[in-house]
Amino acid sequence: MKIQMLYNTENAFVLKSYRELRQTLWLFKLINKPWLVNLLTKALNLALKIGLPVNGVLKATIFKQFCGGETIHETKSVVNSLYKANVRSILDYSVEGEEDDHAFDSALKELIKIIETAHNNPAIPYTCIKLTGFVQSYLLEKVSLKKEFTESENQDWILFLKRMENLFETATEMNVPVYIDAEESWLQPAIDLLAEGFMLRYNKEKHIVLTTLQMYRHDRLSYLHKLIALSQNNNIKLGIKLVRGAYLERENARALEMNYPTPMQKTKEDTDRDFNKAIEICLDHIDLIMLCAGTHNEISTLFLLDEMKKRNIANDHPNVYFSQLYGMSDHITMNLAAENYNVTKYVPYGPVRSVVPYLIRRANENTSIAGQMSRELELVTQEKVRRDRNKLLN
Ligand SMILES: Cc1cc2nc3c(=O)[nH]c(=O)nc-3n(C[C@H](O)[C@H](O)[C@H](O)COP(=O)(O)OP(=O)(O)OC[C@H]3O[C@@H](n4cnc5c(N)ncnc54)[C@H](O)[C@@H]3O)c2cc1C
Repeated sequence: MKIQMLYNTENAFVLKSYRELRQTLWLFKLINKPWLVNLLTKALNLALKIGLPVNGVLKATIFKQFCGGETIHETKSVVNSLYKANVRSILDYSVEGEEDDHAFDSALKELIKIIETAHNNPAIPYTCIKLTGFVQSYLLEKVSLKKEFTESENQDWILFLKRMENLFETATEMNVPVYIDAEESWLQPAIDLLAEGFMLRYNKEKHIVLTTLQMYRHDRLSYLHKLIALSQNNNIKLGIKLVRGAYLERENARALEMNYPTPMQKTKEDTDRDFNKAIEICLDHIDLIMLCAGTHNEISTLFLLDEMKKRNIANDHPNVYFSQLYGMSDHITMNLAAENYNVTKYVPYGPVRSVVPYLIRRANENTSIAGQMSRELELVTQEKVRRDRNKLLN
């Protein structure tokens, strides 16, 4: 498959009015400068700390680019317009709350609302969760280290398991698959263990509980083989979201500081190689595995398209999904959707102030990934030039 297929800017920005296109161009130019992002991040944190009214400015700019709204209700227009362009939405309540029962219970309540919204709604095919949104992360770390709980920790763990049971029972009843996000490697053994347990319990007939593999870890291909054996031996469905992984710097820094071998791959090329290898393995088991490629990487995307073609897997095969974050890599999302592939956008939402950490991460990520932002900037610029030219000719 040729890369030019992804560079059709008319498809890529079909949902943007001329005014929105200009706003996007302005914003991308701004966040393309690392020093400016740094400065603005500091200014924003200060403004929030001393209580300056920044909601309006944020909502009209970076929030509008990367978030679907402040409430689930507000995301409706984004979800509908994406669906008209054959793109489906994954609603992601991006509030990073305190680690207490109140925050965990309200996260559960919101997630159940998402599942109810997704029920019988083809515009929202599945949902996603971070387990750290439902339990104290130090308990996940303790389980990962196989350490004993105290009595009160035991109580907290039981409450957490009840929340999960409530969640997956609802998901089963409403027939809405749930992807469990992958997190830091020191929490991941517990997350893997839980995901496997929930899969054994809920995936007998359908893909309800799905897990995530971060291919920047050097042990994930062998874990993928282990998961395939687990599902074959137990006759259950397997769902895999493949990502490269979001915590590379933090992982390497911690390994260095605490003097243990890093679980990270040695080079980016190693990560890319394993990501593509995992795609092949999943496609070779396509009747068993529901695959979601969560990536903004054009080469991996084209690789997946080619491998599907080689195996005669239909573009809209129900077990193959592509996924990008809202506001990023629209050229991949929209051009795949135009070719009838199953594409989803992760649409984060939440009160403006609560999603600020998410927005800062997006701005920094877009700045730091070599080449990516300039590619997006280039494509938005091209589309503006194309529309300006058309206006002149008409
Ligand atoms: C829909 C979706 C869901 C996601 N869910 C999760 C999730 O559950 N958990 C999670 O951790 N992340 C998640 N991510 C983020 C993802 O892991 C990546 O950080 C992000 O998508 C960038 O990677 P990329 O595949 O788009 O491509 P690229 O831009 O090509 O790759 C960048 C990535 O390559 C890896 N990398 C970079 N340098 C090196 C190096 N020197 N050595 C080894 N590896 C290197 C890192 O993982 C880095 O993030 C998700 C992303 C998307 C789009």
